[in-house]
Amino acid sequence: MTRSAQLATPLLERFGVLAQARATAADALRATSPIDGAEIGRVAPVTPEQAAERIQRARAAFLAWRTVPAPRRGELVRLLGEELRAAKDDLGALVSIETGKIRSEGLGEVQEMIDICDFAVGLSRQLYGLTIASERPGHRMMESWHPLGVVGVISAFNFPVAVWSWNAALALVCGNPVVWKPSEKTPLTALAVQALFERAAARFGDAPEGLSQLLPGGREVGELLVDSPEVALVSATGSTRMGREVGPRVARRFGRVLLELGGNNAVIVAPTADLDLAVRGIVFAAAGTAGQRCTTTRRLIVHRSLADTLMQRLQAAYARLPVGDPLEDGTLVGPLVDQAAFDAMQAALRAAEAQGGQVSGGERVLAQQYPDAWYVRPAIVRMPRQTDTVRQETFAPILYVLEYEHFEDAIALQNDVPQGLSSAIFSNDVRETEAFLAADGSDCGIANVNIGTSGAEIGGAFGGDKETGGGRESGSDAWKAYMRRATNTINYSRELPLAQGVRFEV
Ligand code: NAD
Repeated sequence: MTRSAQLATPLLERFGVLAQARATAADALRATSPIDGAEIGRVAPVTPEQAAERIQRARAAFLAWRTVPAPRRGELVRLLGEELRAAKDDLGALVSIETGKIRSEGLGEVQEMIDICDFAVGLSRQLYGLTIASERPGHRMMESWHPLGVVGVISAFNFPVAVWSWNAALALVCGNPVVWKPSEKTPLTALAVQALFERAAARFGDAPEGLSQLLPGGREVGELLVDSPEVALVSATGSTRMGREVGPRVARRFGRVLLELGGNNAVIVAPTADLDLAVRGIVFAAAGTAGQRCTTTRRLIVHRSLADTLMQRLQAAYARLPVGDPLEDGTLVGPLVDQAAFDAMQAALRAAEAQGGQVSGGERVLAQQYPDAWYVRPAIVRMPRQTDTVRQETFAPILYVLEYEHFEDAIALQNDVPQGLSSAIFSNDVRETEAFLAADGSDCGIANVNIGTSGAEIGGAFGGDKETGGGRESGSDAWKAYMRRATNTINYSRELPLAQGVRFEV
């Protein structure tokens, strides 16, 4: 047994899912660890019949769950948070093994799940509607928020469990069951999370059966969720390519969709920037997680006067970045998820070169030690302008560097990409930072000052516009996407006045 399989096996055993992770069917999903490329488990995909049955079970659970008082629903999520706290080390380790994230990021992902559970528990007593002034005497208007229905979650490989929790914690307190199609690259962490949910539900006592359903499988299983009329909301996280298919398909049946798609996030470094902060913020956001976060910094837009200095400092920091086994203490950059990610990275680097880019780094490392894994040195590419390659999201650690002279040009470059997820400025000039945050500043869903583009907290709404899909998840009032709104007008008078002064008397 390989090292990654040896490490994964006892974890799967403790989650009680080892048997499910040892499927023998010919079409089983093969889970491999990006650490060494070795197989760590096999999970049977659901058949279309099983998928339909699980969606039906969730639908039946909805009919019961929607009438349970929201604070009581919050109790289930509180218990889920407790299970996650107890299993944090094991689940964090499994995330690292299955995705190749460094240990602290695997643990951080589980912490994010715990945080959103805490948030959702509080929210379960705050699903507020408004009372609205009525124009008619003796009338009152209000709005009520009601459970929506089955929430389908489709998730990406790079946050294999946190994305489920952002959706599930809110959906559950809002009165909805969840049916989850995890990434085909990360079925084992999904099994573990489902097991934790079941533990929480057992402690809760009278949760309806079927509140959380798992649909392991590939894209075709995702399509079943997308097309099912029983699924009221499809929350899909992944590439823009996926969202372009999913969005119109759900719209065709008038379902609700929440899309969290690709990003092409930029950092602007202005002349007054604190360069120490900027270098730290950029290196974490550009090279951390081996460039495999939706919020990874992919573009650096630096004032011409600072460009050489900043490049030197970044290159020095990149040269010191420890690339290697993500489970080892001290490693900061783990592997790419698979060979396809490596090939896409190399193709982007060659294309950037052909467009006038000067590439440093980007080469494969540790190939002898890990012939079946894909470790790279993060790349920095100085570009003469924002070319087609720069405008695409390549899901790997490539930082394109562009220069600007006038502040307005920096904003224009930052916005001149199809995606609109995250952005940041390093500047101590309040005019610039406010302009960056203004209506005609950054067009992204996330705009930061003096911190990088990645590492969002759960308290804010998360997501972005344009080809990032427009969805918002997690904090603030993102919960409203998981409920339906009813406007109620109540007449407590003895008259029946019509709105807008309309008269209709027979
Ligand atoms: P992907 O698009 O290949 O797959 C994502 C999920 O969608 C998988 O579960 C896959 O099976 C499913 N899927 C693919 N095509 C489908 C279809 N036609 N119908 C239904 N389901 C379908 O993405 P990936 O490689 O796993 O993840 C990386 C991408 O995800 C990057 O583009 C990254 O920016 C994005 N991402 C975005 C966010 C965000 O919150 N905005 C978060 C994480 C990842």
